[in-house]
Amino acid sequence: MVLIDGKKTSEILQSEIADEVVRIKELGGRVPHLAAVLVGSDGASETYVSGKVKACERVGFKSTLIRFDENVTESELLNCVTQLNNDADLDGFIVQLPLPKHISENKVVEAINPQKDVDGFHAVNVGRMVVGMSAFISATPFGIMELIKRYKIETSGKNCVVIGRSNIVGRPMSILLSQKGIDCTVTLCHSRTKNLKEICYQADIIVAALGMAEFLTGDMVKEGAVVIDVGITRVRSDKTKSGWKLLGDVKFDEVAPKCSFITPVPGGVGPMTIAALLYNTLLSSKKEVYQ
Ligand code: NAD
Repeated sequence: MVLIDGKKTSEILQSEIADEVVRIKELGGRVPHLAAVLVGSDGASETYVSGKVKACERVGFKSTLIRFDENVTESELLNCVTQLNNDADLDGFIVQLPLPKHISENKVVEAINPQKDVDGFHAVNVGRMVVGMSAFISATPFGIMELIKRYKIETSGKNCVVIGRSNIVGRPMSILLSQKGIDCTVTLCHSRTKNLKEICYQADIIVAALGMAEFLTGDMVKEGAVVIDVGITRVRSDKTKSGWKLLGDVKFDEVAPKCSFITPVPGGVGPMTIAALLYNTLLSSKKEVYQ
């Protein structure tokens, strides 16, 4: 069994990005610039955004953090998006989700210029990905594809089961895995799927992205399967300093011994997400997606 090291792979990808920034500077170019918009003070969002800002510093990007309190109106936020769309110094920006209930996330995401949508959430980027055009691909699926490539996991003709059909993880995963060149035969499962256990048991590759701690058990996985665990559920623990621990969607102790490859939680898919966002920003600064 190979334990896929997402932390190390993310560090390698980030150091490749940092090298590229050095080259850009040497050639007298402008360093990539990412902005993040944070609304309110949700603990998880604060952590994600500060992780993104710190990662920018690590690779030599310029970063800008724009904060609003949670009472910001939808139109104020949309004005901010328009300003960022028009800011020639900015290569890309993200609006950290979730947003407060009184603001339409769809409206905000669709107001972002697709050419600066480095989160890859805009319908134009999703559509371009579906038809196989160059696009900003949302960070978590992008990070998973990078792990699959860098660990040279065979995909051609393999039966792949994706559990979860969200717009940011499960659905794009199912599309990327079925693309020409990757060539998996994909089954996309969700909360209404019947016989999930039997379906999973047929799979060569399972991507678990449903957000239910330790859902995928040993009896659902065949010998030699590849298991990618996307889930992150925070649960109370008296064994950690913080009083919390993270669990994935996979019952690791049961599943890991049967696998050819598996990602742990934490240290698997999670660390790749930030590196993927930086990579998208670099692509944007080099005008490699929209030429
Ligand atoms: P979501 O809640 O938007 O979607 C969950 C999906 O799972 C839905 O499509 C639903 O149909 C399906 N589902 C729910 N119960 C099911 C069941 N019993 N059987 C089969 N399918 C079922 O979640 P999301 O945003 O896609 O996130 C999924 C998980 O991944 C969460 O734990 C989230 O925290 C985590 N996540 C991790 C990263 C990362 O960087 N590692 C990034 C994004 C999300």
